[in-house]
Amino acid sequence: MSRTDGSSRAGVVRSSREYSLVVTQPVDAGGHLFAIDGELTDTPNRYTVQVGHALHVDLPESYGLELILDRFFWRFMNHSCEPTAVVRGREVLALKPLQPWQEITFHYNTTEYQMAEPFDCRCGSSRCEGTIQGFRYLSRSERERLRPWLSAHLLAILDGRVAEPAAAAAEEPLCR
Ligand SMILES: [Zn+2]
Repeated sequence: MSRTDGSSRAGVVRSSREYSLVVTQPVDAGGHLFAIDGELTDTPNRYTVQVGHALHVDLPESYGLELILDRFFWRFMNHSCEPTAVVRGREVLALKPLQPWQEITFHYNTTEYQMAEPFDCRCGSSRCEGTIQGFRYLSRSERERLRPWLSAHLLAILDGRVAEPAAAAAEEPLCR
């Protein structure tokens, strides 16, 4: 386990060529794990986390692996359809009591409106949603089911306080 700085409650593990993030000490339900720090951008990529309307946290390309392991380990937080953590603003909180070595995961559809790189989830949960491509593609009932975990910018869309973002021009059906 690559332990992060002294005050951190998380560390990165590499197994079978896959990185994951685990807790390094017991954490209570609702406990603060770490913040998602980095550079803000309006363009998502496969590594960014969305923290607001057209607002995503990214890392400069100049950051090396060691720096990311030490300080920006949120990058290694995997998706789960039955997550152990939730993103609130730019803070990551435990959803339940966590013990050392338990993986820290969040549900990508609770932060991402539209994934830059959709993927097929194999988390094994009974509530697995299969293809994870972003909040945009969820039905009303699927959105409601995620309500307790939703980030504020997606909750605002669900509650109609913010209009559903328009589809990208390239995806509009062609007029004939
Ligand atoms: Zn899943």
